[in-house]
Amino acid sequence: MSAAYTAAYSADAIARAGAALAAFIRREQRLWIITGAGVSTDSGIPDYRDARGEWKRSPPVQHGDFMAFEAVRQRYWARALAGFEAMRRAPVSGAHRALAELEAMGFVEQLVTQNVDRLHQRAGSRRVIDLHGRADTVSCTSCGYSIMRYALHAEMAARNPAFTGLDAGHAPDGDADIELDFSTFEVIDCRRCGGIFKPDVVYYGDVVPKARREAARAGLFRANAALAVGTSLMVFSGYRFFRDAHARGMPLASLSLGVTRADPMLSEKWCAPLTPVLEYAVAQLKQQSGAA
Ligand SMILES: [Zn+2]
Repeated sequence: MSAAYTAAYSADAIARAGAALAAFIRREQRLWIITGAGVSTDSGIPDYRDARGEWKRSPPVQHGDFMAFEAVRQRYWARALAGFEAMRRAPVSGAHRALAELEAMGFVEQLVTQNVDRLHQRAGSRRVIDLHGRADTVSCTSCGYSIMRYALHAEMAARNPAFTGLDAGHAPDGDADIELDFSTFEVIDCRRCGGIFKPDVVYYGDVVPKARREAARAGLFRANAALAVGTSLMVFSGYRFFRDAHARGMPLASLSLGVTRADPMLSEKWCAPLTPVLEYAVAQLKQQSGAA
């Protein structure tokens, strides 16, 4: 949970950041919000990057490798059997709940998430675009046949009993930290056409589908300001929105624990733990609207 890193920040620092965030929201009214792994670390799903935006762990699977090599898919699915369960069971965090509350209060024009865990939806956010897809469904890359991921996992577990019950740390996309010989792992291909099954996630090296990118962009230009929460914006598909918004003169702000690629463009930046700051801001906005 958030206690460990929150302890490094005084109650005063959190109140200052929360009050400034509330003031920003009150002033701008209609926000376009982009979230990243930081929002889900409070749910126990680890972040890929550290406070300086550097890789904390081996980079995630590359799209080209996944499609080209059976060995990469064997390794991916074997590790996913262990890693994805943890992600499925991850609880919604206070940050997810606070963002859903901001939407219910009418402050969110669009929420774009780079996370694939669907925790924003579980927390009650409705205006969500899953920019990088969702990890809980799987589609055939040839014919498009789509199934729920847990069903495919159940089938893979039944065919690969030696690989079940492995315990491992897990990664943001349901991957896991296990290294062993995966060459005997039996991958399941599309039952309709024999094509390659892939989680409906945009991997590194793949592109965000155009319609999704355009929808996110349209939301951005309906909003008055953009706010990044828990993301370093190191991935270009997220960063480009801030670059475009900056070119239009929109106010940009960030709440995160570290540097972001957009730092030179930000009008406001709060380097603080997400959940307590968001909760503080929501409480203050509620109080003010109640008093008005
Ligand atoms: Zn197929």
